[in-house]
Amino acid sequence: MQSRNEQLMAEAVKYIPGGVNSPVRAFGSIGSCPRFIKRADGALLWDEDGQEYIDMIGSWGPMILGHHHPKVWEQVAKAGPMGLSFGAATAAEVEMAKLVCSLVPSVELVRMVNSGTEAVMSAIRVARGYTRRNKIIKFTGCYHGHSDGLLVKAGSGVMTAGVPDSLGVPEGCTSDTLSAVYNDLESVRAHFSRCGEEIAAVIVEPVAANMGVVEPEEGFLQGLREICDQYDALLIFDEVITGFRLGIDGAQGYYNVRPDLTTFGKIIGAGMPVGAYGGRREVMEVVAPLGGVYQAGTLSGNPVAMAAGMAQLNWLKDHPHSYETLNQRAAAFFDSIREMLTELKLPWQVNHVGSLGCLFFTGQTVHDYESAKTSDTKAYADYCNYMLTHGVYLAPAQFEAMFLSMAHSDAQLKQVLETMRAYFEQL
Ligand SMILES: *Cc1c(COP(=O)(O)O)cnc(C)c1O
Repeated sequence: MQSRNEQLMAEAVKYIPGGVNSPVRAFGSIGSCPRFIKRADGALLWDEDGQEYIDMIGSWGPMILGHHHPKVWEQVAKAGPMGLSFGAATAAEVEMAKLVCSLVPSVELVRMVNSGTEAVMSAIRVARGYTRRNKIIKFTGCYHGHSDGLLVKAGSGVMTAGVPDSLGVPEGCTSDTLSAVYNDLESVRAHFSRCGEEIAAVIVEPVAANMGVVEPEEGFLQGLREICDQYDALLIFDEVITGFRLGIDGAQGYYNVRPDLTTFGKIIGAGMPVGAYGGRREVMEVVAPLGGVYQAGTLSGNPVAMAAGMAQLNWLKDHPHSYETLNQRAAAFFDSIREMLTELKLPWQVNHVGSLGCLFFTGQTVHDYESAKTSDTKAYADYCNYMLTHGVYLAPAQFEAMFLSMAHSDAQLKQVLETMRAYFEQL
């Protein structure tokens, strides 16, 4: 007999490409049936078959307070009945912008949008408009949403023009995207020494969290800042994952490096579709209606979305020590995995920064995309399917992070560790 998840998938594929509205949800890389989630509370999820899971994804980051947080829900329930959208200015947007500017010192003006993809696409347009230059540098293995110019194939050192990594992206859209190697400043300098006066910006995930989790090495982010200053290019931090996660001021506060522009998503919306981009006043002043860079959105600054995001950010602001607790608890959790692997003589790697972490099935240390790619994705698939079957909801793909939330209890994390141990011991 088919499970309810299997029945839903059979129905879904008739009407939705691949049955899902975002590819990773299809569970293709672990070869099993997607879990259709019915409900969530705190750090727990329940699927349509009634199975319970400890949620180690948190909707890919937004749910840092856990699901169905009472303070967030209270504000959403208040905002909804007042009207779902007006397409006009609201007080909530003013409050949100003021809050973001006060929490993140490098952000002096901020524009709300509806997704991380939109935030990054717009920030790049601003960087190009401000510098009047066209080229951008991105790092192989960093993900910045699905806009045309950022879907480039993994680069090689000698390549100057990016090659599209998706059908439907014309070469013209990626020819100004240069690829560099994460944690390798020389690969960045090489582009600048060839065509520095044409480079508008360097965009980076300050902690790479879309090739598994890769920490920036000492001096890497600072080095990017210096190179950009030397060539009058802008430095863009894509903090769609790290923003309000590593701390209230994101990775830029955590590593003390000040970008010119920052993009947000995920946590800023608390689970509602929200993104934002902002930065230095002088740079952001090129955005319409002030300046000549056009960017707009019918639903941008949506009142219900603002209510949710603001409730979450205000809670975080009012509980500054909660980051310390979360990061300490996460460090203990990831350290326990490392100890377990050592004890069981398994060579695999655990990378973690704050509440983000991941397990790579490789014996090599992982510091960039090349080394991440040495991970055995079949081994990951086997592990992931075991964990799912035993009530731990992990990313159904190797090159994704685990996101711990402030709702995870010590007992729940211990249960995750025990499930991992049971898996490792039966190998
Ligand atoms: C998720 C993500 C995006 C894209 O955000 P969407 O809301 O999915 O469009 C961009 N950059 C980074 C670093 C992300 O993790």
